[in-house]
Order: sequence, then C-alpha cells, then structure tokens
Amino acid sequence: MKIALLPGDGIGTEIVAQALRVLQVLDLPLETEQALVGGAAYDASGHPLPDATLRLAQAADAILFGAVGDWKYDELERALRPEQAILGLRKALGLFANFRPAICYAELTHASSLKPELVAGLDILIIRELTGDIYFGQPRGRRAAPDGAFVGAEEAFDTMRYTRPEIERIAHVAFNAARKRGGKLTSVDKANVLETFQFWKDIVTDVHAEYPDVKLDHMYVDNAAMQLVRAPKSFDVIVTGNMFGDILSDEAAMLTGSIGMLPSASLDAAGKGLYEPSHGSAPDIAGRDIANPLATILSAAMMLRYTLNQSAAADRIESAVRSVLAAGLRTADIWREGDKRVGTREMGDAVVAAITKKTITKS
Ligand code: NAD
Repeated sequence: MKIALLPGDGIGTEIVAQALRVLQVLDLPLETEQALVGGAAYDASGHPLPDATLRLAQAADAILFGAVGDWKYDELERALRPEQAILGLRKALGLFANFRPAICYAELTHASSLKPELVAGLDILIIRELTGDIYFGQPRGRRAAPDGAFVGAEEAFDTMRYTRPEIERIAHVAFNAARKRGGKLTSVDKANVLETFQFWKDIVTDVHAEYPDVKLDHMYVDNAAMQLVRAPKSFDVIVTGNMFGDILSDEAAMLTGSIGMLPSASLDAAGKGLYEPSHGSAPDIAGRDIANPLATILSAAMMLRYTLNQSAAADRIESAVRSVLAAGLRTADIWREGDKRVGTREMGDAVVAAITKKTITKS
C-alpha cells in the first residue's frame, strides 16, 4: 500500500509527522513517500503543485495531506497561491466525494457552543459533492453595462449546474456510506427555488430504489442549517451539493467545538482518496509544538478504512484516540482547567503508546 505524504505548510509538517508515527506502529505493509506541496513547493520550485508531487499523488493508493497556506503568499497571483494545490489535486485525481464526519467526544462536549445534551455522542457524516455546482459551472464572469455608463463591470454571474452522472455517483457513494452506518440518509437541496436542486432531488429519489434498506429523507438547506443547531443528533448521513456542503460541513464542525479534532476524506470513483484534517495550516501556531495532531491522526484512520480496507487498524487508531482523551490529555486548543496539557509530539507519543499497549494486551 503506497501512501503519498504531502505535509505542506505551517503546522502541516508537525501533524503529519505524528500521523506517520501512528501508522508505522500498526505493522501494516505501508510504503510512504513524501513530497512538497503548497507554499513549501512554491518556495522550492515556483509552483504550489509541482509535476513530481502530482505524479507521486497519482501513483499512490492514498494521499495523506497536512495543510497549505500562509499569509505571506497572499500577494501572489491566484494560480500560484498554495491553496491552488488542493484544487489541482482534486481536479487531477477526480476527487468528487468529500466526507466530513462531525463527532463530539464525550470528554469534549464542553468545547461545543451548544448545550452538552445536544451534542454528547454526536456522530454524523456530511458528504459534499466536490467537483460540480456553482463553484465550477460555466459561464461565469463579469459584464460591463451595455451603455458603458459605468467604468468596469456592472454585473457578475456564476452558473449553478449539475449533470445526471455527477448526481448519481455522489448519491451512490452516500447511500453506501449510510448503509455502513445508521442506515439513514438526508439529501439536502433547495428544490423549492432552484431547478438544479429539483433535478438533484429527483435523481437521488431514483437512486434510492437500489437501496431500499436505507431510509431517505429530503430537506431544504435553510431547514438543514437550522436542524443542525437544534437537533444535530437527528441526522446520520447528509448528502448535498458543493456549495451547501461547504457551508453545512463547517457549521457541523463547530458543533464539536474544535477544528483540531476533525478529519476529512475526498474520494474518487474507485475509492482512492486524499485524507486531510479539516483545518488549515494555522500559521499563528506553526513551529511551536502546540498544534493538535488528532485531526490528522484520525484522517489516517479514515484512509485505512475507506481506501486501504484496513478497518481493524482504523478502529485501533480511533480507540487509541478515545483512550488518550479519556486519560485527560489535551493540546492547547481543547485544554481546560484540570486536564493534562500536552504538545503536538507528546500527543502523538500518547496515541502510539495506547496502540502498542493494546497490541501487547491482545497478544
Ligand atoms: P486555520 O484552520 O489554519 O486556523 C484557524 C484557527 O484554528 C487558528 O487560530 C489556528 O491556530 C487554529 N487551529 C487550526 N488547526 C489547529 C490545530 N490542529 N490545533 C490547534 N489549533 C488549530 O484557518 P485560517 O487561519 O483561516 O487559515 C490559515 C491558512 O490556512 C490560510 O493560508 C488558509 O488559506 C489555509 N487553509 C488551508 C486549508 C487546507 O490546507 N486544506 C484549509 C483552510 C485554510
């Protein structure tokens, strides 16, 4: 199993290093190779996604990505900014299904902005279509006023667009994911206003015929945004388009209290994927050994489960993370009075120790 490691910028290198240590103690036949991406790649070669990095990602079975970006690149032209590397990878690898779980660990309910009883035990999955919708639809642009009365553009427009195959494939991914979890899928749309999303709703309903064991319901996006803060535990799996998914997955992330805890996956049609924490490169805390590596460690667990078919190993990582949290270990972002404060590396040590201890107990 070949894994491309793309740590990127800021805290990316620190957190991927910890995830790698965790993978290495699992005794799996993993081969890893590392490459530069984002600002680090731009500094070295003048492009955020150099050919060698893209080739490595294409040849690998899975990609473990840290994060990219730094404010020092803000003045660069858009095509050369570090964040373009993620868009480039998604496009080149056909990563159309974005999985964003939102899990609230019992020990961290205090970090949520909602009442503990609303989030305790929360475990939902948002599946966002990643390569279509208004973010990519053509035409898009700006138009000058016909009479030329004003200098510059007078109108701007984007096109919301989905094709049948795009909706069908994300629907299949979502029904399959729901089947492996609680058996409930909520398709989020805006069918009452938008033609594109009436189309979406009709197709998801058609695909449902192949998954009679999954309970499907449809919800308008404004209601879904409300229900996520009113009764988040009423959801199991949510599937939606690119723009609604962008917004709802960040809303759901915040229900859990800490961005440092949330993994994510972006998958292609064959299940190959890019796995990364939901947060960015956090330049404000980079290089200080205080970043939370758990989102990246949990992303590695998702990689084992969804792409490498190593569910047992994924379970071991996830239960090690739970036991470390139960033991009261916290990085600064989730720390509060009474907890044991640890750094990035120490948190990695603790997860490694929890995994190896379990191996010893079992054998
Ligand atoms: P960010 O997610 O990097 O940071 C937001 C806040 O959360 C910061 O205060 C940061 O210190 C904190 N934080 C984030 N991850 C943490 C962790 N693991 N442990 C502890 N605290 C953590 O978002 P931002 O500050 O808006 O963006 C910083 C840079 O990251 C920008 O250049 C942005 O474009 C980029 N970015 C990259 C990705 C990606 O690589 N996928 C995603 C989002 C933002």
